[in-house]
Amino acid sequence: MDNKIFDDTQIAFKMKKNFHLYNAIFLFNIITRKILVTVFTNLTLVMLKLNLPIKWILKRTIYKHFCGGVDLVECKEIINEMYTMNVHSILDYSVEGQKNELSFDKSCKKKIDIIDSVSKNKAIPFAVFKPTSIGRYDLFKMVSNQNQLNKTENDEWLNVVERFHKICKHAMKMNIKILIDAEEYEVQKAIDDLSLEMMINYNINDVIVYNTIQLYRWDRLDYLKKILKKYSASEFNFGFKLVRGAYMEKERLMAKKGKYKSPICSTKNDTDKNFDNAVELMFDNLKKIDFFVATHNENSNYKVMKLMKKNGLQNSTNKIWFGQLYGMSDNITFNLAKNGYNVAKILPFGPVENLVPYLIRRAQENSSFEGQSSRELSLLRKELLRRKA
Ligand SMILES: Cc1cc2nc3c(=O)[nH]c(=O)nc-3n(C[C@H](O)[C@H](O)[C@H](O)COP(=O)(O)OP(=O)(O)OC[C@H]3O[C@@H](n4cnc5c(N)ncnc54)[C@H](O)[C@@H]3O)c2cc1C
Repeated sequence: MDNKIFDDTQIAFKMKKNFHLYNAIFLFNIITRKILVTVFTNLTLVMLKLNLPIKWILKRTIYKHFCGGVDLVECKEIINEMYTMNVHSILDYSVEGQKNELSFDKSCKKKIDIIDSVSKNKAIPFAVFKPTSIGRYDLFKMVSNQNQLNKTENDEWLNVVERFHKICKHAMKMNIKILIDAEEYEVQKAIDDLSLEMMINYNINDVIVYNTIQLYRWDRLDYLKKILKKYSASEFNFGFKLVRGAYMEKERLMAKKGKYKSPICSTKNDTDKNFDNAVELMFDNLKKIDFFVATHNENSNYKVMKLMKKNGLQNSTNKIWFGQLYGMSDNITFNLAKNGYNVAKILPFGPVENLVPYLIRRAQENSSFEGQSSRELSLLRKELLRRKA
């Protein structure tokens, strides 16, 4: 087994000049400290509210590390450069917290425009969207809870369903695969049901639509088994993106506040086991499933590589994709690509202020889980030492 391939920092950071590495070390040093993240987060939000010139600083620091640019033109250089190393890009135009129909329509159109502009570019085989960027969060929540909708709400929901169809149908037409992001537990049932409807409609000849499964949820394995059984004889195939989940702390707080059982596994170990079991379930049902392993966890990536080998799959099979976020785990991404696996980076782009919630999530995530950030730091330092030697 090509074990330990992720230790090769020369491949991992080939694209980065020394000053990029120093900048990354500086950033990770800050975001590994929870207290500093809390202070900077609050400070940023206040400064944005007061219209103080914080955007300029963000753009040159944390934004530059985790995002592609404000528009497609600014992202082009990164996309092309990564593709020379066989790393694909997935453009993620981030808008969060939209509230009215006009903004949802605009957001839907933006996704369709992106599909059009990447459809002929081999470096960008996937598109992605966050369901609550094309529909009201509270509406997803009501539908998830099976609440009775009034006439206006029902019309609004029909618009959401139509936007889902528009994006997925267009993706199928342009032969672009589409990843549907997973969100908070309270809105996820509606997202799951809609994503399934999309798969039934558009995953006929090829797998176009991928729903995201958050394995920090203890109920997800049963969910997967249930739908696999229910649709075992049906014509369409499944697409799944496997993640651990990005909203753990928020979910635990919401469960406590709402006095319901937390949907999150009690320990990291339980989440890891769940993730492993989901990976095995994917391989047990390979005829019916294409999947995308979205993780920065080296063991999870090694596990998939090992099972691919065991199942006699080529590294380059189109059935399995790997993915990391831009700015994280380059050691995994670039070494997977070097070894012929299909791998992509999610490249968020858009105006700085739109990306602030995303950047806060990245900072909080890195401050919450010592392991990953210290791994990033040690790899960055190792590469600098290697270059000096
Ligand atoms: C390409 C890509 C796409 C993504 N898309 C989405 C998405 O659509 N929706 C979404 O929610 N997230 C998404 N994420 C984020 C993802 O869910 C994780 O938050 C992130 O990748 C960290 O998990 P990991 O597997 O990479 O690493 P690890 O460091 O191995 O795992 C960290 C994760 O483990 C879980 N965890 C940590 N501590 C505990 C604990 N005490 N108890 C239980 N569980 C714990 C949490 O989920 C935490 O994020 C995406 C990530 C990538 C790389």
